[in-house]
Amino acid sequence: MKYKEFEFIGSSFKCDKNCPYCTAKITKWPVVDNKLEMLEERLKYLRNNNINFKYFIFCGNGEPSLLSNEDFKKVVEATRNVNIFDEKRLQSSGNIFFEDEKLELIKNDFIVEITRVSLNSEEDMRILGYKRDYINTQNLKKARVRLNYVLLKNKNFEDCLEEIKQYIKKYPNIETVSLKTLNLNTRNGEIDNPYSKWIIENALTKKDTDNIIKFMSNNTKFVVSDEKFFDRFEWVYEGVPITFYAKKLDYGFSNIVYYGGELVDYHLNKIKLKKEI
Ligand code: SF4
Repeated sequence: MKYKEFEFIGSSFKCDKNCPYCTAKITKWPVVDNKLEMLEERLKYLRNNNINFKYFIFCGNGEPSLLSNEDFKKVVEATRNVNIFDEKRLQSSGNIFFEDEKLELIKNDFIVEITRVSLNSEEDMRILGYKRDYINTQNLKKARVRLNYVLLKNKNFEDCLEEIKQYIKKYPNIETVSLKTLNLNTRNGEIDNPYSKWIIENALTKKDTDNIIKFMSNNTKFVVSDEKFFDRFEWVYEGVPITFYAKKLDYGFSNIVYYGGELVDYHLNKIKLKKEI
């Protein structure tokens, strides 16, 4: 049976960015030992239960490419030894483009996901609190890139679409774009922190879903509506898919998370394998 995502979430809480909506800081998961030696075993367990995934997501409460070379390699090797994934992705703050060895290791079988709030690097760096302009490095050109485009209230839909078109033109190795609304809180539903407050004031959330779908459907070519399993819509611009996860299903419905050696859901409960999705 196919699940959507297997997420390896590291627990370093170290990052070179300071996003005002930082999911790691909102959810307040406990700091744990990653227990990397368990990862391959867990993947084998899933394979033995005939489970595979559309995506492997290498991400973290913290920036995954700040793991030591040795630990980074352990994660990558585990996904190669038990490859039950159609596609593999690394979500990065951008730091991966300053890590030659790690980039070299993954560039052929992982897509690197970057997340931005502005095409203008100065503005992106100011809002997301980082110092190095990774998008204009030579290393970025070596990677296959997915752009997470965060939808903010400071731009209307027309401006967003125009900006996405400019990204695609300027950075031809952007293979896919994902339109992002932000999650106020993925753990207990309470708005009890400055990050969630920032989101309410500045970003689109799942309440804006229908408007986003309506605008995109009227302005670009619509190809996929797969609401049942993937909870997503997809459009195409100049051959580049623009995806939007509508978040109408329960959050993480068809995902499994690896955290601290355990297979869990987004509430950190141990998963029970589903008979059917
Ligand atoms: S890149 Fe991720 S972990 Fe780092 S500050 Fe931003 S949201 Fe948080």
